[in-house]
Amino acid sequence: MSATDDYDYLFKIVLIGDSGVGKSNLLLRFHKNEFNGGQRETIGVEFATKTIEFDNVHVKAQVWDTAGQERYRAVTSAFYRGSLGALLVYDITRHDSFRNAERWLSELREYAGEDCIVMLVGNKSDLRHLRAVSAEEAKAFSENSRLSFIETSAKDSTNVETAFTRIIKEIYHRRKHDSV
Ligand code: GDP
Ligand code: MG
Repeated sequence: MSATDDYDYLFKIVLIGDSGVGKSNLLLRFHKNEFNGGQRETIGVEFATKTIEFDNVHVKAQVWDTAGQERYRAVTSAFYRGSLGALLVYDITRHDSFRNAERWLSELREYAGEDCIVMLVGNKSDLRHLRAVSAEEAKAFSENSRLSFIETSAKDSTNVETAFTRIIKEIYHRRKHDSV
């Protein structure tokens, strides 16, 4: 293993949420700082990894994308297994994608367990004029379900790095706290 491949922790994080909300583009932005504006679905990667450093530790995040399985409601239990964190994504311009967050959350809880740290992510914040889900409504849901909450734009990069970094740190601090 080369020195640049060294890491102290490996965290599996899953991206979940309805088809079209921007999961693959959030991963593309985080991983390669790119955006795919095409209508046609990019058959993205199954997962991508990126190592970040803080507090003198190197954490390798292995981020899994549903890669289109969610369209057929065919996300398998293997997809969820072992995940320490999840970004539960909806599209701020589609209220149905927000309503479905509850269903995604219960599926996640069933397969990944109660300890999986979840962040609710309202994506496409650049489309202000088309907003259908208020930040207040999303915040209320996140507080009730004890999730953290952030709005992002994979298109203009707003908060994408922050969302991934924050969940990685949350996982790290929770584990550190639990192991003492
Ligand atoms: P997925 O099905 O959840 O993986 O969603 P995709 O990443 O494939 O994105 C679905 C569509 O939404 C594509 O046409 C993207 O270009 C578009 N999209 C994704 N993220 C954003 C965003 O932050 N802002 C805008 N305006 N469009 C986005
Ligand atoms: Mg996708």
